[in-house]
Amino acid sequence: MTAESLGRFDVVVVGAGAAGMCVAIEAASAGASVLVVEKQSEVGGMLHIANGEFSGAGTRRQAAHGIDDTPERHFEDVMRLSHGRADEDLVWRTVRAQGDTVDWLESLDFDFDPGTPGLVHGHEVYSVPRTYWGVDLGRSLLRLLGRRFEDAIEAGAVRLLLGTRIQGALTDGGRVTGVTGIRPDGGEMVAHGDAVVLATGGYDADPSVRNRFLPPGCENALIACLDHATGDGLTLALTLGADVSADGFFIPVMGLIPDPARSGFAVDYREAFVQVAPAYRTPYEIWVNQDGRRFVAEDGESPERRERELLRQPGLAMHIVWDRSIAETAEPLIGNGTGDWTRERMLAECEAGRWIVAADSLRDLAERLGVDADGLIATVERYNVAVRSGNDPEYGRVVLPMTIGTPPYYGLTSVAASLLSRDGVRVDGDLSVLNRAGTPITGLFAVGEVLGNNVFAGDNYVGGMSVTPAMTLGRELGRALGAAAASRSISD
Ligand SMILES: Cc1cc2nc3c(=O)[nH]c(=O)nc-3n(C[C@H](O)[C@H](O)[C@H](O)COP(=O)(O)OP(=O)(O)OC[C@H]3O[C@@H](n4cnc5c(N)ncnc54)[C@H](O)[C@@H]3O)c2cc1C
Repeated sequence: MTAESLGRFDVVVVGAGAAGMCVAIEAASAGASVLVVEKQSEVGGMLHIANGEFSGAGTRRQAAHGIDDTPERHFEDVMRLSHGRADEDLVWRTVRAQGDTVDWLESLDFDFDPGTPGLVHGHEVYSVPRTYWGVDLGRSLLRLLGRRFEDAIEAGAVRLLLGTRIQGALTDGGRVTGVTGIRPDGGEMVAHGDAVVLATGGYDADPSVRNRFLPPGCENALIACLDHATGDGLTLALTLGADVSADGFFIPVMGLIPDPARSGFAVDYREAFVQVAPAYRTPYEIWVNQDGRRFVAEDGESPERRERELLRQPGLAMHIVWDRSIAETAEPLIGNGTGDWTRERMLAECEAGRWIVAADSLRDLAERLGVDADGLIATVERYNVAVRSGNDPEYGRVVLPMTIGTPPYYGLTSVAASLLSRDGVRVDGDLSVLNRAGTPITGLFAVGEVLGNNVFAGDNYVGGMSVTPAMTLGRELGRALGAAAASRSISD
């Protein structure tokens, strides 16, 4: 069967997530002909599930809230929070323009959450409020970008192919000249482009790719992202001789619940996760490891401290333990970002047996959780003494609201999770993919999570420093490729 030829375009974008849509929107508005190829049946990529928290300094919205901020300060914060391990050039390149991205979204009537700009306590905090999110989280960004993208399609400037998976590249004398892929009916396709942009996102949904990059002992981490993140762009770039980072950094996301129906995966983040940040919910429970021992102050302010302590626990697992009195008193332990986990729903979940284990004694609870029973009983005794005395000598916890002693007892296991690829394709300042000799592979570009998050966050999480570089550098790349197309057409 001969491959269907889609013709020649100025820019071929692989992937229609935040990065790919932004490349396409800007390249098309600069006059380029653009083909976007997306393997899923809809656009949006990780925006369907992401919190969509983005960051930018010196914005109109900050000024309106009396917040004095600059890209230089944002840069310093990123380098501090990333322990100096982020890529200085790429960080500066994106943060200097992230404020413009925020202002651009505002000019398009983005539905900002009224509490923004804010400080976000799920990660180590910035020195000033410079994080924003929509009322509908990542879906707010998707709606806005999706509308602009749709406009470009309707104007005839962008052609979108859904359900088409790019698998290979066309080359000519070392230059990338197009892509090959599989259409939804199984037929092959080819498309030629002066520039091919890999905007394919990360690899975390495929453990065979992800675990090549994780440090040893972390293979047990749950997968907490959507299924499309299978590292296709990275794999394709490798076949073309691209250089790929392998820094060996990993910092987990906490609070994810193992999905009983899908081994190795977390329960969908949009349905349920445990709210572990004390800034958002007062902790009433204790967290123990497989030995039944606590391992960190549950009310500690530093997310990074908690995350790194969890990485040291066997199986990367922690077991959250509480009792009936706490269940009837505390705010719901489980949330999903939309506020529909009420105390009543939480009490029903305690009895439902889906994820939460209930038992009339701590010994039974420990056995059902797979935790050392003597260890757990001794830990609860010590914890109750700490509550009564108002002093936790072991871990220095200061929030000690209630003892644990009223059956039934409850337990919920949570495992460290990955949702964001740490390593990725190496690029230069123009987002040209570099080969292993450090030379650009002509015609091949990459942007978004395919670059790996380490370049923007080092060995940590830094607020908004995945989706904002995806949009900001995506827009810049789109403009640059659009300008290159315009200058080619003038000289032709
Ligand atoms: C639960 C969760 C919460 C998050 N919260 C935040 C946050 O608050 N702030 C933040 O900065 N980041 C956050 N992130 C990360 C952030 O959302 C992503 O890094 C970012 O959206 C990635 O954008 P992207 O366009 O590079 O990739 P994606 O959004 O993953 O898009 C890639 C697209 O490429 C397509 N594709 C892949 N391979 C092929 C192929 N072979 N052929 C054709 N198409 C292909 C995919 O189907 C997909 O549509 C979160 C992630 C998760 C999972």
